[in-house]
Parts: sequence; C-alpha cells; structure tokens
Amino acid sequence: MTKLKFSIEATDGTARTGSIRTEHGIIATPAFVPVGTAASVKSLTPDEIENTGHRVFFVNTYHMIFRPGLETVKHAGGLHKFMNWPHVLMTDSGGFQAFSLSENGPRVKENRATERSLVKITDQGIAFKSAWDGSPVFLGPGESMAAQGILGADLVMAFDECTFYPISEKRAGLAMDRTHAWAKVCLESRNLLKSRQSLYGIIQGSVYKRLRINSAKFMASLPFDGLAIGSVANSREPRDKVFAVLDWTMPLLSETAKPIHFLGIGEIEDIILSVEKGIDSLDCITPTRLGRMGWLFTKEAGLKNKFRYDITHRQYARDLQPPDPLCKCYACLNFNRSYLHHLFKSRELLALRLATMHNLYFFADLMGKIRQSIRERHFSTLKKEWLNY
Ligand SMILES: [Zn+2]
Repeated sequence: MTKLKFSIEATDGTARTGSIRTEHGIIATPAFVPVGTAASVKSLTPDEIENTGHRVFFVNTYHMIFRPGLETVKHAGGLHKFMNWPHVLMTDSGGFQAFSLSENGPRVKENRATERSLVKITDQGIAFKSAWDGSPVFLGPGESMAAQGILGADLVMAFDECTFYPISEKRAGLAMDRTHAWAKVCLESRNLLKSRQSLYGIIQGSVYKRLRINSAKFMASLPFDGLAIGSVANSREPRDKVFAVLDWTMPLLSETAKPIHFLGIGEIEDIILSVEKGIDSLDCITPTRLGRMGWLFTKEAGLKNKFRYDITHRQYARDLQPPDPLCKCYACLNFNRSYLHHLFKSRELLALRLATMHNLYFFADLMGKIRQSIRERHFSTLKKEWLNY
C-alpha cells in the first residue's frame, strides 16, 4: 500500500478541485463519501455502488470489531477482499461510535442513565461495553490503529475524543488535549506497525474559536497525510457555529497542501457551503439512511424541503413521473414514482435498493457538477442556482 497523493487541479475562490490518488484508485475531489457501516452500503452490491458513481466509502471500525470481528476480516485478507470492493476505502477510529452507540445504542434505550456511566474516558482511551452483548472493550489510540491496520482501508482516521453539543469550553479543552496526545500516539503506532495507510489527524475544539485554532495549528504541524474536522456536525450544533468552525480553521489547514475531510456532513446546502470554504471530502449517512426511509432527493424539491420528498406520501400513488425527472440513474430511467410508492408501502426489498441507488447517484452527480463548476470558475453560479444566495 502506498500513501495518498493529493493534487489540487483548479480553484475558484477558496473552493478547490483535484484528486486523491491511492493504491485502490483515485477519488476526484471534492468528493462525497457514502457510509457502509457494517462493511456494506446497505442493499447494494459493489457493482451497483460503482454504477452510482462512487469510488470510495466509509466503514465503521467499531462495528467491525464486534461483527464480524477483526480476526475474521484478517482471515479474509482485509476489508477490500472481504467485501470484494476494489476501490478506495476509509475507516474511522471507532471512537465516535464507542461514545454514541454505547450511550444510545439499540440495547440501552430503556436504561440510558446507567449505561452512560459505563463509558469511561481516561487519558489512555475509552472503556465501554459492547452495544450488542455488553462485553467490556477498551479502545485507545494504539488499539484503534492496530484495528484499522487489520481492516486495511486506504484512508484511516486518528483516534480522537469526540464531544457532543452543548459542552463547556473547559471540557472541550480537555477532549482536545487528549485528542492531541492521542494523535502523536497514532503516528507512532503507524510507524511501529510499518503501516503505509494514509492517516488523517482530527481537529477538535467544539464551537470554541480559541480551541479550534489551537487544534488546527497543532494538527497541521504533525506529519499526517490528511486532516479532518470532527465533532461539529454530529450533535445538532447550530449551523452558524458549524460554519464558523470552518472560517477559523480552513485558512490554517489549507496551507498544508493536504486533503481536508469534514466528518458527518450530508445536507445538500451544507455540502455546497463546505466546498465553498475549501473542504475536499465529506461523509454522511444522509442519502442511504433517508433513502431507506422513503426520502428521495431531487433538485425540484428545493432548499426549504432540503431537496427531498417522501415517496410514501399518498400524492405519489399514481404519479407516473420518474423519481427525479432530471436523473439518469437506473431507478429513474426504469421506474416511476407510483411504482416506488407501491414498493415502499408493500415493504418490498426492491424499494430500499432503488431509493439507495437513486440517492447515491444524485449525490455523486451533484459532486461532479460541483467539481466542473470549480474547474470552470462558475462555483458561485452553481451555489446560487441551488441555494438562491
Ligand atoms: Zn435517479
């Protein structure tokens, strides 16, 4: 495995387009990265994912640790072989899920107060209980790097302490300090493991300017291959604060000539605003999870509806238009809203597949248009066309 090579081919204002080259292929940037939590973009085969236009997706390390277990993935020769996915893969550190699933996971809803105390964070890492069977687990920077090494994704994330909003500046500062200490351990672990995976350092600091600037400077000074912005899009932070974080940090990060990933961004408006500020890639469960719930994306639905509509609504029962009249995906070229409405109402598995295909195609198509607009220096026109501002 060879480390990533990032090149910026064109800029328009602070927006930029280029490519991230890896051993498993090239990601054109800015890129949207779908999420395949449990080593599967739910309901699609690798060929079908490819046909939606994506060449990369995210797998969650936390899930792999429990199911199928790291030894099983190792036995299969790593995630690429296990899933038969020939293109680029990203994994996260497992930290975010250790917090969020242990506190809100499927097993614990009735007993959250007790469960919360079972997540113990120290300077060494996070001790928690499995969301599936309650077994105790410890995850620290070294453990996370070892796990991600076995999974073998091209792009991996340093172990960080995520924060949830709201949080005091003092507590956010503590999380940031830990994240910084762990960043160094992750880099050392990578050297010890002789890993050639590309490692992203994660900027923390919640919504506090002083902390975010401190964290951006610190991470930019370390020999990471990429940088990521964490803990600002995952717990209902006010949107103005989300983008203030980019305003504070992007000037410092852009200077590094490294790709910059924004963790957990998936609304169309937020994607466009993030790209405008220089973000190179972002990931979110939005198109896949909402698709499985019957939400289909179309530009026609407009900004105030977040560019999506609910196909299960009865107004679509006899609508013979394609799901999105402007879309060229398999679902839109072959089926109409009436049929998709029926599939969802009848709980047919094909409903989930077609909705996922369409939504992923829609996101890939939008990112293609964004890249073209940056190359042609028309990004502000594209932004106005979609967002009207
Ligand atoms: Zn479509």
